[in-house]
Amino acid sequence: MLNSLRDVLTESVRDLYSAETQLIKALPKMAKAATTPELKEAFTTHLEETKQQAVRLEKVCELLGVKPKGKVCKAMKGLVEEGAEIMAEKGEPSAIDAALIEAAQKVEHYEIAGYGTCAAFATVLGEIDVAELLRETLEEEKTTDENLTALAEGLVNDEADTEDEGDEEGGEEDEDEEGDAEEDEEEEEPAAKNKSSRSTAVKAKR
Ligand code: FE
Ligand code: FE
Ligand code: FE
Repeated sequence: MLNSLRDVLTESVRDLYSAETQLIKALPKMAKAATTPELKEAFTTHLEETKQQAVRLEKVCELLGVKPKGKVCKAMKGLVEEGAEIMAEKGEPSAIDAALIEAAQKVEHYEIAGYGTCAAFATVLGEIDVAELLRETLEEEKTTDENLTALAEGLVNDEADTEDEGDEEGGEEDEDEEGDAEEDEEEEEPAAKNKSSRSTAVKAKR
């Protein structure tokens, strides 16, 4: 029963605990399915963080006087299932990687929403230690999300390069006097990270 903000906080924290434990099982599979070494590493690194996040939630539950286990986060179940769907697909490794990044970012956004609101509730309730623990994880989830965005941008740039090369073949060769034109201009603008445009709605108030 939800009778107070404290009830909402404890139930949401237990939901997050379920989410994290599901991810501890899912992330090794995601790492295995990824092709790009950087993406594999991102998943492996976040797996280690995720294990610590589960431990943090156990501490949070202890502070709140509730048991962490016993709830199932259905949203994470669905998100993990979507990840499994991608892993079952065959196809171009870079396309699979792109789809894995998308699935992973959906997971991070769910977590960011959950930790953001829970940290805010804990602060309102004067549970300073709880809020601090939740914010620690919140920051890790945000960093992971940003890293995944950077990896996605890298994939998109690679793809664009490949498409440029593809366009060249089949063009009228006679107009181009054997490579006089400078072809590989490599205009690699440093991918601007649009951090500022990302939603800040879930940021916990201090
Ligand atoms: Fe997490
Ligand atoms: Fe949930
Ligand atoms: Fe995460």
